[in-house]
Amino acid sequence: MHQLARLDRKFVWHPFTQMRDWIKREPITIVAGEGAELRDASGRRFLDANSSIWTNLHGHNHPAINAALRRQLAKVAHSSALGLANEPASLLAEKLVAATHGPGPTRSTRRLEKVFFSDDGSTAVEVALKLAYEYARRRGRSRRPKFLSLAGAYHGDTLGAVALGHVDLFHRAYAGLLFKTDQVMSPYCYRCPFNRAKPERVDARWYRKCNWECVGKVEQKFALQKKRGEPYAAFVFEPLMQGAAGMIPQPPGWLRQVTGIARSQDALLIADEVLTGFGRTGTGPLITNDHGSSASQKVRTQNLFGCPHEGVQPDLLCLAKGMTGGYLPMAATLATCNIFDAFLGKYEEFKTFFHGHSFTANQLGAAASLASLKLLQSEASVRSRLRLEKDLSRELAALWPLKSVGDIRQVGLIAGIELVRDWRTREPFDLRERAGIHVGEAMARRGVLTRPIGNVIVLMPPYCTTPAQLRRMVQALHDACRETLG
Ligand code: PMP
Repeated sequence: MHQLARLDRKFVWHPFTQMRDWIKREPITIVAGEGAELRDASGRRFLDANSSIWTNLHGHNHPAINAALRRQLAKVAHSSALGLANEPASLLAEKLVAATHGPGPTRSTRRLEKVFFSDDGSTAVEVALKLAYEYARRRGRSRRPKFLSLAGAYHGDTLGAVALGHVDLFHRAYAGLLFKTDQVMSPYCYRCPFNRAKPERVDARWYRKCNWECVGKVEQKFALQKKRGEPYAAFVFEPLMQGAAGMIPQPPGWLRQVTGIARSQDALLIADEVLTGFGRTGTGPLITNDHGSSASQKVRTQNLFGCPHEGVQPDLLCLAKGMTGGYLPMAATLATCNIFDAFLGKYEEFKTFFHGHSFTANQLGAAASLASLKLLQSEASVRSRLRLEKDLSRELAALWPLKSVGDIRQVGLIAGIELVRDWRTREPFDLRERAGIHVGEAMARRGVLTRPIGNVIVLMPPYCTTPAQLRRMVQALHDACRETLG
């Protein structure tokens, strides 16, 4: 066993990992990366088919991000945002605000104008949650504001984010530590009890037979809560694709309808784009960036987020993962002026938002984020993302003939492949059978790394993935399914 692997086994406690199983084998120890490839301590090369848990955008060891980090390192790595501003964070805040100005209401009160930096997806959600809670109280909407999120939701592992989540397996143990939130069914067409269609060999969204009962459920939830005299303070959602819930894509029109309901009940919209942000949901519609005051300053730019696909403008937007191109832990929560203003007052009123982290607005993270945004907005990146999205959908089609492939769901550059015992019956594997894990391991033996969510295999390639690499990823999944599931 490699010496580094031995050290890992002896000292490191891995996240979401049964350590008793972990120590039985030699782990893959990554020592280098280049583009879509990772290299381990014994020189083996792997394709990073889930972009290092959905973080990497442009590939590893990217010269432009490396150079930006080196430039920043030569100046300063970090100074506190408690009491100090800094160069890259100020520049980044402006760029993020500009990048998120999409269609929809143009009243400045609804636009995202302020950026609160933090460290990762969980803290970005935690910040949004606290802001929405306090905002609702200050507006006199409720003394104990309540939140509505989606069934199966996962918004992170800090306690506030866990309270918004509804993954029994992860969250049940901590119930005693959490405040109560409500959940409503998500539009999981493949396993929807209201979908009367028989399974077909195409994404379940396209053959479903239903009457949008999932939208009706959201309507009922809001109506009931209103009747109780405690209207929801906010509706929390991932736009277009619910990630850790099992890559559950939303049929077109769902988000527009449910956010319309939430708006009509005066609830805030909290969009968790930790996974979907920064180009992951595909290029979608161009957005008009009218940050400038005169019409001539209007520029049509490439949309980088999930919400604009459905014409939705959230009040709070959570970003992390891909923000730095997947280089460093850094996150942002964007807020409207309405929310920001509720925290303004005389010092002695103590309306301050009492929240912050040691590494808030870290310079290295901000420098990497600026470089990553610049790459994302380049024509070359837009073109390669468009190509990759098309290639991904074409390659994935090769999986439909497999008996164990129940559903293939793609949104932009995110794909979830749900494994079942037999596609004709949709019969799921029991989690204890570890079907997803076995397929993931068989893929790793073929030089392709990803991590399943239960029985759903995730393919989320870095944007620099070549057609040949993409083909290898899908082929490895194909062969791994045949090897392990027959
Ligand atoms: N929100 C979403 C949608 C996520 O997918 C995740 C992580 N998978 C988080 C929040 C939490 O992010 P982090 O792991 O960076 O804390």
